[in-house]
Amino acid sequence: MILGDTILETRGLTKEFKGFTAVNGVNLRVRRGSIHALIGPNGAGKTTCFNLLTKFLEPTAGQIVFNNVDITRERPAQIARRGVIRSFQISAVFPHLTVLQNVRIGLQRTLGTAYHFWRSERTLHRLDDRARELLDQVGLTDFVDTRTVELSYGRKRALEIATTLAMEPELMLLDEPTQGMGHEDVDRVTALIKKVSAGRTILMVEHNMNVIAGISDTITVLQRGEVLAEGSYAEVSKNPLVMQAYMGS
Ligand code: ADP
Repeated sequence: MILGDTILETRGLTKEFKGFTAVNGVNLRVRRGSIHALIGPNGAGKTTCFNLLTKFLEPTAGQIVFNNVDITRERPAQIARRGVIRSFQISAVFPHLTVLQNVRIGLQRTLGTAYHFWRSERTLHRLDDRARELLDQVGLTDFVDTRTVELSYGRKRALEIATTLAMEPELMLLDEPTQGMGHEDVDRVTALIKKVSAGRTILMVEHNMNVIAGISDTITVLQRGEVLAEGSYAEVSKNPLVMQAYMGS
């Protein structure tokens, strides 16, 4: 199959909660290899969209197409196997284990039960090497033996990205990756997102406009469950509808 320019597409994606439409006919097109930001005021439907894309929620209507395959009816595990991976919340890692141990567990999960059956010295070494490689990519080489609970907030988020990379994502969904961070951590995680985007596609919900301006190729603005605007930062930021939405008027 020849894969086109579009990695993910939603057509008329809709989610109703007891008569309230949280996501309303959203047509999203994510370009392969891009960093695509989903933004919008609180309650715009961003989290609901993420939950629909990973099938944590069942859409009321519409279609989700990944790599030309309609995945609308697939289960979360099937979608993850296709390479659509949402970043793990740090709560999913074990705080009292070391950084290396946590990534190793992430890798074991990816390999599934077969790993436990075929466990061998060689497999263990390979897992360790791969875990160290991933930690090197996210700048945590000096912290492999640190207990996760002792990491700074920004480094915990970097670990979260490493455990997500362990699942070999083709499309990474990042949910507010810089939320609650100070300047330095924001800069570090922004640079990291840019770095790990090589050879992958990233769709992220993000509030920090500097981050969005710095690394997004495309921005989709949601408001009240609908697409209000789409384009580059330069295009979206001077769109009067977007300005109005952000002023709250
Ligand atoms: P955002 O992430 O953009 O802040 P959400 O997707 O969390 O927005 O929410 C969109 C709207 O859908 C909000 O009005 C929210 O109250 C509503 N909503 C979200 N989840 C549920 C749910 N499980 N039941 C009812 N309403 C929901």
